[in-house]
Amino acid sequence: MPESVEVRAPATGTLLDEVEVTAPDEVQTLVDRARAAQAAWTQRPLEERGAVVDAFQRRVLDHRRELASAVAREAGKPFREALVADVLPTLDMARSLDEHGAEVLEGSTARLENPLLKDRTSRVDRTPVGVVAVIAPWNYPLAIPATQTLTALYAGNAVVLKPSEKTPLVGERLVEHLHAAGVPEDVLGLAQGAGDTGQALVEAGPNKVLFTGSEAVGRKVRRQAAEQGAEATLELGGNDAALVLDDARVDLAARGVAWAAFTNAGQTCAAVERCYVHEAIADDVIDRTAELARNLNLGSPEDPDTDVGPLIDEAAVDRVDAHVQDALDKGASLEAGGSRRESLGACFFEPTVLADVDEASAIMREETFGPVLPIVAVPDASTAVERANDTRYGLTASVWTTRSDRGDELAAKLDAGTVTVNDHAYTYAACETPWGGVKASGNGVTHGRWGLEDVTRIKHVNHARPDRATSPWYFPYDEDLERLADDGLELVYGRKLEGLSALPAAIRRLVGADDRG
Ligand code: NAD
Repeated sequence: MPESVEVRAPATGTLLDEVEVTAPDEVQTLVDRARAAQAAWTQRPLEERGAVVDAFQRRVLDHRRELASAVAREAGKPFREALVADVLPTLDMARSLDEHGAEVLEGSTARLENPLLKDRTSRVDRTPVGVVAVIAPWNYPLAIPATQTLTALYAGNAVVLKPSEKTPLVGERLVEHLHAAGVPEDVLGLAQGAGDTGQALVEAGPNKVLFTGSEAVGRKVRRQAAEQGAEATLELGGNDAALVLDDARVDLAARGVAWAAFTNAGQTCAAVERCYVHEAIADDVIDRTAELARNLNLGSPEDPDTDVGPLIDEAAVDRVDAHVQDALDKGASLEAGGSRRESLGACFFEPTVLADVDEASAIMREETFGPVLPIVAVPDASTAVERANDTRYGLTASVWTTRSDRGDELAAKLDAGTVTVNDHAYTYAACETPWGGVKASGNGVTHGRWGLEDVTRIKHVNHARPDRATSPWYFPYDEDLERLADDGLELVYGRKLEGLSALPAAIRRLVGADDRG
């Protein structure tokens, strides 16, 4: 009997389906087939691959409500949030590839300035890496695998996708829509299962792994990929800080920070996990965010009035609860929420605001990945930057200020892959911009031209004229060569006229006056 994974709705615990696990030898077959099919896919003109991306976009548009419902059911996020945060970036990545992709992939020419090479021409092409393994998390079960898979396919790669074992049904739909849009079966494979399947996929020898998930698994994937000689782009967790300066618009900052802390029940890699507020406005920000948190509707993802749904599973609720209790034990004050909401189900936790949180608390040091906003008052912006950087993570950070020069000044000092000024966490959907973290938040970049570059390799093609007699550095290594290189260097790099004495030697070397070479 083949193994299977149970898919449960986090809101109710209801069994949605059982999905068959792809055995390791089948995973190997998917990678082998993808490798065999990739050559024909990459040889198709870019416009043809672009037409497939367009057809996929049309299908997603037509099925958007159904896809958002599937995301809501399986991942537990509110239906309306799924439309904005999963469906929209998927559609927009297709648009972005269509509008800008060709420009990135068509390559460029390089001007040769080396004085001996001025008669040569160079072109820098971008070629696909081959087979890309996309290993995805459950928290944006459509947007993350869709944007990465589309980018890799458009660039001419074949892909084997492994969705999270917690959201395999959304992964299956994504692959069905891509096949129906015209991606050949073998060019896009689907491997289902948990960590073992992910490991089997990395070991099956893809050329590149695009991994999105936790720091701990990311480290394993990096090691396994390196052993296979594959590159790995890792999009990992975060412990992002929002810095609210004394000149910030308090109402906007409170709404923005509360949204970025509680959207997707805080299960966003770039969620605000720490908020440093100037002490002059701290009480105001705490009061407003606490009020917003208290007014959020916690409930079923399918109920249109719901703002915040359940966490993904009970283990996630236990972790969030433990972080909140630890912060309270270390002296934090509870401003809103703070408890499980068992009347709704086993996976619900109230949107929570904590103030005066000790920096040593787990909630400040680790990724909580839940609906909790810890706020700390600081005396000035430089303390805020110092605290924000005092973490091993570096995904995103935000600065809230009415002065854009202060925003830029602090952005330069923050150790993060993305810094947003006056908003937070939303640039995953800005498909023309790079997405990627530093430090323990990962390496490599997805999205924008950098995402396309990440799934391609540079190929340099250089032309030397076939009708020339020789190249000046060919044998024999005679006195003319020495004069050309020695005196000639003085002329070109030292700008000394004595170097002109090299000219006759240079001419002889260029025309190949000696026929021994
Ligand atoms: P996870 O690390 O548990 O799992 C991610 C994927 O890796 C899943 O498909 C899983 O089955 C697979 N996997 C597990 N063990 C594996 C192994 N040994 N080899 C290969 N694959 C393996 O993460 P998760 O719980 O699904 O997602 C939440 C985490 O992802 C959080 O830390 C979050 O911050 C992070 N995340 C980061 C980004 C980003 O863009 N930086 C985006 C979303 C989520």
